[in-house]
Amino acid sequence: MAHSLSFRKTKIVATIGPASWEKEQLSKMIQAGLNVARLNFSHGDIEQHRQTVQAIREASDELAAPVGIIQDLQGPKIRVANLKGERVVEAGDTLVMTDVEHHREGAIAVDLKNWHRFVREDQSIFIDDGIIELKVNKIKGTQVHCEVVFGGTIRPRKGVNLPDADLPIECMTEKDCADLEAGVELQFDYIALSFVRTAEDITKLKKRLKELGSTARVIAKIEKKEAIKNIAAIVKKADGIMVARGDLSVEIGQVHLPAEQKKIIQLCNKSGKPVITATQMLDSMQVNSRPTRAEITDVANAVLDGSDALMLSGESAFGKHPVRSIQTMHEIIVEAEKQPHIYYRFGNRKKDQFTVPESIAISAVLCSKQLNAKAIVCLSTTGKTAQMISKYRPKAKLVAVTAKSEALCKLEFCWGVQTLKIAQYENTEEAISQVEELLLANNIVNTGDHVVLTLGVPVAQGQKTNAVRVFSAGNRRKGKEKSPKAIRFISPS
Ligand code: PEP
Repeated sequence: MAHSLSFRKTKIVATIGPASWEKEQLSKMIQAGLNVARLNFSHGDIEQHRQTVQAIREASDELAAPVGIIQDLQGPKIRVANLKGERVVEAGDTLVMTDVEHHREGAIAVDLKNWHRFVREDQSIFIDDGIIELKVNKIKGTQVHCEVVFGGTIRPRKGVNLPDADLPIECMTEKDCADLEAGVELQFDYIALSFVRTAEDITKLKKRLKELGSTARVIAKIEKKEAIKNIAAIVKKADGIMVARGDLSVEIGQVHLPAEQKKIIQLCNKSGKPVITATQMLDSMQVNSRPTRAEITDVANAVLDGSDALMLSGESAFGKHPVRSIQTMHEIIVEAEKQPHIYYRFGNRKKDQFTVPESIAISAVLCSKQLNAKAIVCLSTTGKTAQMISKYRPKAKLVAVTAKSEALCKLEFCWGVQTLKIAQYENTEEAISQVEELLLANNIVNTGDHVVLTLGVPVAQGQKTNAVRVFSAGNRRKGKEKSPKAIRFISPS
């Protein structure tokens, strides 16, 4: 159950597909440690996605374990089109590529109209996450003649990358706009935007979400060279980031991936923006029941790098072992999190960089460290304080408590944040009593443990967080503690 997993800080995102979209399977995955489900809109139709969302929510409600749901928009991904069956190509073969409209017998078509206009001689073309590499020899009208550099099996709908081409395509295609509209009704917690190039792409999506009345948070998928160039502005604008290593590796060149992954994670950590490391984390578990040594190390290193969440793709969507993949990822994360250097990361902040919320967040973490507190609880409406506290990587369990259930799932992919819902409260004492009961009932703390609480006083007026307070769990239950002592108070004025 979710509460027994509350000691794991790094979250698990799993892509849902034919191997995992039944409710029974989803329940097992949630119990194994799934925090966030990702629905990939590159595949499937809206009816299937609707059924999957319903199954996730039912399983999550039955287990009382909040699960966030991501709508991952396809974006302008070029794909192999019209291919019936498979086509094996070997190094040295010649291959003609066209768009669908100008397709001729024997050629491989792609679903980008007039694509011969965007490729140049000597450019590289990659198929299937870079497994197959082609070099453009010549362009004859609408037919692009290529030589196979690295061969393989070309399968229908596989992705095609042209890292050096300047493609005049919008970040959101017509399909994405339609999927977004259909998705609003399903109330996704996050929208992942593929092939983001600039911060403006995020602004446009946020504007559209507002028009549609959605409060979903936006995750920018970093998988283009332009995104790397504009990364600071993108991180600033987005609510979260995904290091989409499948396409990113092809677009920037595979040898550059490890350093870029680390740089993106560092920037997100510094900015307090949650970051997901994605793709091929336990890839061999699509078939095998155990991962490779390299995969174990990759998962552990992504934790040590500072990822907020790690993502499974084919492993959970169509592999043989979706539940076991989550269990395995959980076990590797728990072990990696025993390394002390991942905690209490305060950075080198200058005095003038501290806002009131930052000061509250850092005070709560320092307080928890000094007192060896077992939990930091953030009483809030949106969970923003919990996200800010997460940035400083406390060892104590971090719990966001709110009476607004829509905020709960949106925190599911933040490092260390657990969520609990409480009933509406009228005053501080009423709120703390509920918090205390919940912490004890969920085994988050034991009687006598110190708890650090952040809150906005007076609570009944929905004040923004402005105070840190400490109490001992269970004392008020026994009627020993009349009024909890505030050991630190920071007022905004
Ligand atoms: C990726 O490219 O790594 C990724 C996560 O995106 P997608 O699965 O949509 O290709």
